Amino acid sequence: MKILKIDHLGIAVKDMEAGKAFWHDILGLGFAGTETVAEQKVTTGFFPVGESEVELLESTAPDGPVAKYIEKRGEGIQHVAFRVDDIEAALQELKEKGVRLIDETPRKGAGGARIAFLHPKATGGVLVELCER
Ligand code: ZN
Repeated sequence: MKILKIDHLGIAVKDMEAGKAFWHDILGLGFAGTETVAEQKVTTGFFPVGESEVELLESTAPDGPVAKYIEKRGEGIQHVAFRVDDIEAALQELKEKGVRLIDETPRKGAGGARIAFLHPKATGGVLVELCER
């Protein structure tokens, strides 16, 4: 498995516009637009920073995973995403190492990426996303 870089930090927000007012208007990060991923019940907003991005996540429904996350733990960093060169090979390797996965096979993420999540119980409490673009 080859991890190339931190692809993005996923940050759960209640209000994309309020998030944009801080990350874009105040901090001055770029803003690359939003995209809704219907099956995840989430709208994502991308704020490029160097080789990586801040990804704001706003739920589109009260029962979506991001809404549930905010309900339990409040707004804030929800996941860390690493870019890998070959997501299937990475998942296979992790399976062989006995790492608990949320996604055994990649699914479709924002921006045409293929993504998979590792279980936070296997990572010391951090929701880790692998992504291949
Ligand atoms: Zn992500």
